[in-house]
Amino acid sequence: MSTNVTYEPLTPETLATRLGQLESVTSRLGPDHNQWSVKEVGDGNLNLVFIVVGPKGSIIVKQALPYVRLVGDSWPLPLYRAFFENCALTRQAQRTQNCVPDVYHFDNAQALIIMEHLKPHVILRNKLIKGERVTGLGKFVGEFCAQTAFRGSELSMNSADKKAEVGIFSGNVAIPAISESLVFTDPYFVAQMNSHNSLLDPIVTALRSNVELKVRAQRMLMKFASNTETMLHGDLHSGSIMSTDGESKIIDPEFAQYGPMGFDLGMVTANFLMAYFSQPAHRGDDLDDYQEWILSVIGESLRTFRAEFKRLWHAERTGMLYPATLFEDQGHDSSIACEQVLTDIFSDAMAFCGIEMHRRCLSLAHNADFEDIVDPAIRAPLEARNLGMGAQLILEAETITDNASLISMANSYNRRNML
Ligand code: ADP
Ligand code: MG
Repeated sequence: MSTNVTYEPLTPETLATRLGQLESVTSRLGPDHNQWSVKEVGDGNLNLVFIVVGPKGSIIVKQALPYVRLVGDSWPLPLYRAFFENCALTRQAQRTQNCVPDVYHFDNAQALIIMEHLKPHVILRNKLIKGERVTGLGKFVGEFCAQTAFRGSELSMNSADKKAEVGIFSGNVAIPAISESLVFTDPYFVAQMNSHNSLLDPIVTALRSNVELKVRAQRMLMKFASNTETMLHGDLHSGSIMSTDGESKIIDPEFAQYGPMGFDLGMVTANFLMAYFSQPAHRGDDLDDYQEWILSVIGESLRTFRAEFKRLWHAERTGMLYPATLFEDQGHDSSIACEQVLTDIFSDAMAFCGIEMHRRCLSLAHNADFEDIVDPAIRAPLEARNLGMGAQLILEAETITDNASLISMANSYNRRNML
């Protein structure tokens, strides 16, 4: 498929003919495209995703649509997001090991990425709803977040390269704009696309009348929009992680932008906490054990983040920030500086975490952990715990300085009757 052809969405009927000449595809599927089978599997909110299976193997074909799939063509969205997703995937592949699918081919004009088919991986959120465990999950998430945060920043990169990167990603305007409104702003007033469980009305009214909370959420938005510390995944939730029982991968970085180092860690922690709070509606006898396991994943991911960040600090600090010339070369230990940077990242993460917990119950794009609970009366008390803890995280982010206090806060909200 040539890049000067006008954009046209693929269909299961046209895909084999349109991609049948690409060497990167035929070498993986087999040369005769009449033997390929094509299935559209996009369960996401935005794009077309096809699994293509041939005699030799299978691939994923992801193509952006010029509008938001969840809403329809009344909400246009630029095709250039595929460009940024491809940029992000290739950078994540350089900065981490075996964490993201391999990209086989990218076509800018068709807004198309052809990539490794993760198999038998399934979306982590579905595993968490079913009560399945994934060995090594916390370590995987912590390492991914620490390595991408550190290696995409001026702690590691030289300034010219990092600034050039910021320049590239600053072209991604429309996609971060979705987060700017849906995540940070809409939850805190009656915005057009919002929806929530009406049994939560008293709690929602209280949240929306809390000016300090809004001020703090907007402060985090200012950091999110203005602080270009590192390249973020930008949408790191349990629907962007695919796992087997022992291996995980991160997909779907089309929301990539330069932003604060605590953002991805906070988002993913929020999604683990929502999985945790939703469990009473999904589990039977194994409830306590499974909730305990989710908390252990949160603890492990935060612990690993700190350990891996510290390791990189001492092994790979080659950028403009906190240079060895100023510390180690002068016989001065830089560990205290590292601790300070980690403290800032952690308190940012806690506040981003609380905001994500709010928006998933109040704004557009609710998460299945709660939405799959059909009865609003069963769902409401669990969502209420989530909203309550979210508010405390936003209001007291700087005081939650260790993993244990976060975990004991989750434990305590999990026993509360908030309604
Ligand atoms: P969107 O950006 O539209 O949300 P995603 O990248 O999340 O799209 O992909 C939608 C779905 O397609 C995923 O939930 C997953 O089920 C499937 N999928 C996407 N990428 C892969 C992959 N590399 N391997 C296997 N399945 C994938
Ligand atoms: Mg997406």
